[in-house]
Amino acid sequence: MSTADSIQLKEELDLFRENVKRFVAAEIVPDYPKWDDAQIFPREVWEKMGEHGLLAVDIPEEYGGIGADFHFSMIIQEELQRANCAAISTSTSVHSDIVCHYVLNRGTEAQKQHYLPRLITGSCVGAIAMTEPGTGSDLQAIRATAREDGDSFVINGSKTFITNGQHCDVCIVAAKTDVNVAGSKGITLFLVDADIDGFEKGRNLEKIGLHASDTSELFFQDVRVPKESVLGQIGGGFAVLMGELQRERLTLANGALAAAEGIFEQTIEYVKERKAFGSALSEFQNTKFKVAEMATEIKIHRAFVDECIEKLANGTLDVETVSMAKLSVSEMLGRVTDTCLQLHGGYGYMKEYGVSRAFVDARVQRIYGGTSEIMKELISRSVLGR
Ligand SMILES: Cc1cc2nc3c(=O)[nH]c(=O)nc-3n(C[C@H](O)[C@H](O)[C@H](O)COP(=O)(O)OP(=O)(O)OC[C@H]3O[C@@H](n4cnc5c(N)ncnc54)[C@H](O)[C@@H]3O)c2cc1C
Repeated sequence: MSTADSIQLKEELDLFRENVKRFVAAEIVPDYPKWDDAQIFPREVWEKMGEHGLLAVDIPEEYGGIGADFHFSMIIQEELQRANCAAISTSTSVHSDIVCHYVLNRGTEAQKQHYLPRLITGSCVGAIAMTEPGTGSDLQAIRATAREDGDSFVINGSKTFITNGQHCDVCIVAAKTDVNVAGSKGITLFLVDADIDGFEKGRNLEKIGLHASDTSELFFQDVRVPKESVLGQIGGGFAVLMGELQRERLTLANGALAAAEGIFEQTIEYVKERKAFGSALSEFQNTKFKVAEMATEIKIHRAFVDECIEKLANGTLDVETVSMAKLSVSEMLGRVTDTCLQLHGGYGYMKEYGVSRAFVDARVQRIYGGTSEIMKELISRSVLGR
């Protein structure tokens, strides 16, 4: 990219960021605590984000998107996370950064035309169902099956912990189409409409954080889908899942980093205001050291994640590097939210202070999208050459 082009991109990104910030401040932040209490945000939020062009911005114009660069998509998640609205970030990121891109990159032309325009307006909400009650980290061990029957497949099984499980209108479902082959080979992905016979949404699971994001069990009992519902190749589901993970893990890492940046900024304000023993908390050496440590960690991670974003944009982001980003940022977020809460004292433990929400919301970052232990497995495999 020429210098002139990169200056222009930077100006466009800055302008876009201002617009997203305004939207989040006006449309999300005021009602967020209410949605947190209700354990789900209303359907209108999807439509509003669609109206404002904030869903799947990097999908090409021919499918109703604006064909924006990947950086724009990252900005939406960053501003939601910085504003401590992690639940909306998680839900919309699954929809925009995962589901839409599976359809775009692996779907047939008919699937793209059918789903993408509606996903972009928010009139159709997407989910992806890989995890099952019996298996999460080990995706090769999934038990859901899809039996071929004439020109259809019949899906049976159950999924759990599915983000957007209540709101979803379409769900990408991973199922075994060949139970006789070992591990990854017999897995196929399907685009399954939520209103189809036999597809049942279970309860909205109660979580310790990310309350406003709906997370559900999903049940499939003799769900008959046409062969045109296969996403990608029959038996090629695992390869698709692996191929799309880079974007997913980088989005998680970048969101977690933005969450750390946001709560850190809020905490700086707090320690300057709050007094103890006649001086501001920021005057104590312990506070200064904690602030210095957090600022350093955040800055180092920002440099690394920005490098990963550039690599993803030019197609050179590898599994080892993105796993390092996901592992390191999510662990760092845990340390930062814990320290920030501590610096708030008892107020940090109160719901009315944002830091308490940031603390509980942060915990899942080390679990979903591949746990920290799985990230270490992947990194060590690459380092040790196995
Ligand atoms: C809020 C939330 C939203 C989610 N959204 C979705 C979604 O939209 N779609 C979806 O499909 N899934 C979703 N998940 C599921 C999530 O991806 C899984 O929870 C995660 O991959 C871990 O799987 P598990 O819970 O079965 O844990 P397990 O795999 O049972 O792991 C338990 C523990 O064992 C460790 N472990 C497992 N294998 C190894 C190993 N080989 N070496 C060392 N340690 C190991 C793990 O690191 C972990 O500490 C969501 C989860 C949550 C909590």
